[in-house]
Amino acid sequence: MSEKIVCNVCFRHCHISEGETGFCHVRKNENGDNVPVNYGLLTSIALDPIEKKPLARFMSGSKVLSVGSFGCNLRCPYCQNYEISQATLSDSRVIRLSPEELVSAAKNERANGNIGIAFTYNEPSISYEFVRDTARLSKDEGMKNVLVTNGCVSPWVLQEFLPYIDAMNVDLKGFTEDYYKWVGGDLSMVKAFIEESVAAGVHVEVTELILPGHNDNEEETEALAAYLASFSPSIVLHITRSFPRWKELSFEPPSTASIMKLCRSAMKHLKYVVPGNV
Ligand code: SF4
Repeated sequence: MSEKIVCNVCFRHCHISEGETGFCHVRKNENGDNVPVNYGLLTSIALDPIEKKPLARFMSGSKVLSVGSFGCNLRCPYCQNYEISQATLSDSRVIRLSPEELVSAAKNERANGNIGIAFTYNEPSISYEFVRDTARLSKDEGMKNVLVTNGCVSPWVLQEFLPYIDAMNVDLKGFTEDYYKWVGGDLSMVKAFIEESVAAGVHVEVTELILPGHNDNEEETEALAAYLASFSPSIVLHITRSFPRWKELSFEPPSTASIMKLCRSAMKHLKYVVPGNV
């Protein structure tokens, strides 16, 4: 009987049997190797305004060719993108593009205001090989690379693509260990991800999606803002309204007034706080 492999891409350390995939539906044990089954397989591709990533203070007014695949290593019960984040290979409609083909497509969109490639929609960092290989080529062509991520991957994974990333938005779910237990993540791993990225000179913005009764308290928001300000008071924090999705369908979206109140708490420490979905 063949051995299981242990995946160290993220905090879950899945033990994966031959021919099976781990919790994320992405990393597979193929003859003892840990391979991403979604390499070059895209479920979504769109030329988006950079502000939609969201990035509020990075090349404002530009557009970025945004691509996503399927799979995620978290199970946030309110996932706003669950149709692709929770999908598997067998239930995804995909197109296949090599890194070379994607970079060529991005270059063709330059005339339409495109600055490069954004890896987004599902969790891109668990497919780090595709991000690394594509972003390296894109950088060689003088384009920018953007990552939209939950930041819940091991430090060695971040190092695989960090040299080629210009800007990122890290989706920091909540600022307590309890919140991360609820969504099945690892707050300390996200913090290390942010700290390494800022230290590397990447333009980092952070998004917190507000779930009423879970992460909408002012002390917590202020603590998050103080934490970010300890690196730079110029880090942009997006405080964003959630809407009922996937398994969390019964809550009332937070009011605009409650989002603005949280923004004011964050502005005690940060210069740029952006309300989202208001
Ligand atoms: S990347 Fe996927 S397979 Fe690997 S440990 Fe995380 S959830 Fe498990």
